[in-house]
Amino acid sequence: MADANVESNALLAELEPTVRGRFLPYFQRVDLRRADVIHSDGQMVEWVYFPLTGLVAVLTQTIAGESVQTGMIGCNGAVGVLEAFGSGRFRSRGEVQIPGTALRVGVGRYREMLHSSPALQAAVEQHLEMLVTEARQLMACNALHPIEGRLSRSILDALDRSCLDRVLPLTQEALAQMLGAQRTSVSGCIAKLQRRGLIRSSRGAIEVLDVARLEQVACDCRVSLALAMEEIWTTPDRQRSASG
Ligand SMILES: [Zn+2]
Repeated sequence: MADANVESNALLAELEPTVRGRFLPYFQRVDLRRADVIHSDGQMVEWVYFPLTGLVAVLTQTIAGESVQTGMIGCNGAVGVLEAFGSGRFRSRGEVQIPGTALRVGVGRYREMLHSSPALQAAVEQHLEMLVTEARQLMACNALHPIEGRLSRSILDALDRSCLDRVLPLTQEALAQMLGAQRTSVSGCIAKLQRRGLIRSSRGAIEVLDVARLEQVACDCRVSLALAMEEIWTTPDRQRSASG
């Protein structure tokens, strides 16, 4: 997917072509290879990544050493934008979960771009609002929704954000970490969804056979988040500044 289009990234797609064109010379196109750590826990952010394809997992570790996935960023956003705004330090681990391609820009240059462009500021603010909204929704989801609905939602979210069609190159272990659930519970749910003809599980991959029916099984957080995202991305005040 080395030729993936720049507009594949939702955040970059928000910018007018002239604004985007001004910034493109500052970006490097890089491969995201499975298990690459693009941001280390507690380290200063050097690059801000805008995935075009593939998926980056944000993994948060406790002092005792247990870790759970607390974010999933692909072509829907960027990794490191929040930290570059503030302390500059990434407080989780950003690890490539599904290989792909990204554009990256050095954090110093990114800050200069941000200060010079109201349009980029507006797009990043939208992304940050989206991240906080999603974090709140997922906290509610983890507390309230059964694992089958959460698993179905996560599979569909991962497909959307990695810009893949139907086959998700994820192991059952990765899905268990994504949900903060026991591997055996996830395996049981996968077997159930497979028996109903919604997915096919093979070694290291999940193939979605029936998107429409899987959407019906997914918890309603998927609908809630889709509606929230649509509102966030179409806020009129922000659209007005998209050309600067
Ligand atoms: Zn939910």
